[in-house]
Amino acid sequence: MKALVLEEKGRLNLREIDLQQTLGPDDVSIRVHTVGICGSDVHYYTHGKIGPFVVDAPMVLGHEASGTVAAVGANVGHLKPGDRVCMEPGIPDPNSKAAKLGIYNVDPAVRFWATPPVHGCLAPEVVHPAAYTFKLPDHVTFAEGAMVEPFAIGMQAAMRAGIKPGDVAVVTGAGPIGMMTALAAHAGGCSRVIIADFSQPKLDIIGRYDGIETVHLGETSMAEAVAQKTGGWGADIVFECSGAPSAILGVSGLVAPGGTVVFVGMPIDPVPVDIVGLQAREARIETVFRYANVYERAIALIASGKVDLKPLISDTVPFEKSVEAFDRAVEQRPEDVKLQIVLTDDA
Ligand SMILES: [Zn+2]
Repeated sequence: MKALVLEEKGRLNLREIDLQQTLGPDDVSIRVHTVGICGSDVHYYTHGKIGPFVVDAPMVLGHEASGTVAAVGANVGHLKPGDRVCMEPGIPDPNSKAAKLGIYNVDPAVRFWATPPVHGCLAPEVVHPAAYTFKLPDHVTFAEGAMVEPFAIGMQAAMRAGIKPGDVAVVTGAGPIGMMTALAAHAGGCSRVIIADFSQPKLDIIGRYDGIETVHLGETSMAEAVAQKTGGWGADIVFECSGAPSAILGVSGLVAPGGTVVFVGMPIDPVPVDIVGLQAREARIETVFRYANVYERAIALIASGKVDLKPLISDTVPFEKSVEAFDRAVEQRPEDVKLQIVLTDDA
């Protein structure tokens, strides 16, 4: 089977590989249709590692996928061949303490697609547990299905925030995850979402959505903009999505008294946090690591029309052009939010 293989840092090949997949009784096999390119895939390509995860053997990339069920294991009842689905890429040990507690995203034993040494899904066919495979409603496209994974992080952030109807939210950083978080926060009940970045093209893309206001950080500071937009009170919820040390240090100047800060972005190194500034507002602090139990909610919001992720799909390229697509992702063009690779012409 031909897959997109990261041989080592900086070297990608579309080549034959034996993924040794066997269909167990609780699994489904899926003909992969669409796979989104994620910042983490690109980082493994350019750096060969993320934190403790090091690519020291060839690894298939990709974890944001949709497709069509080809076969189901003996115990699978909720899916059948021909069903259009999307897949949750992180599989915990079902007997782990974290899984029993419902926080399987922080199970140390979780196996996540395209996180070494686990192969990803940029391959024509994958075998996956049925429990982490979700049927797409007929009117939700494969492209949207492959957007559920990045949107799930925004959903997790919105869930962790504990949004109350009418809350005013601030999102620092308008990268893909900041955009997903802004849309999840708005769909989740925020009356206004104020999102900030230094990149005008990014702000133009997310600013087209109703209920989302943009702040260009080259023109005004975040603290000034938020004070001006909230009558000096601050935001009920601050979603820090940039991972930038200065933004992390600045969150205490954005959050309202009694408000909540959700740390979504991941700084590369440990960074300072203004604890007293947060204490003086008695702010609640939340953190996000991937997501758990949000796929069905995410699909439901997309299916309802409350969240439209299609404008965030910047381009779609065929599987044969995967390496070129990754090289374009490395460029980080400001107008590119999500690039997707299509593996089949199934409708
Ligand atoms: Zn991703």
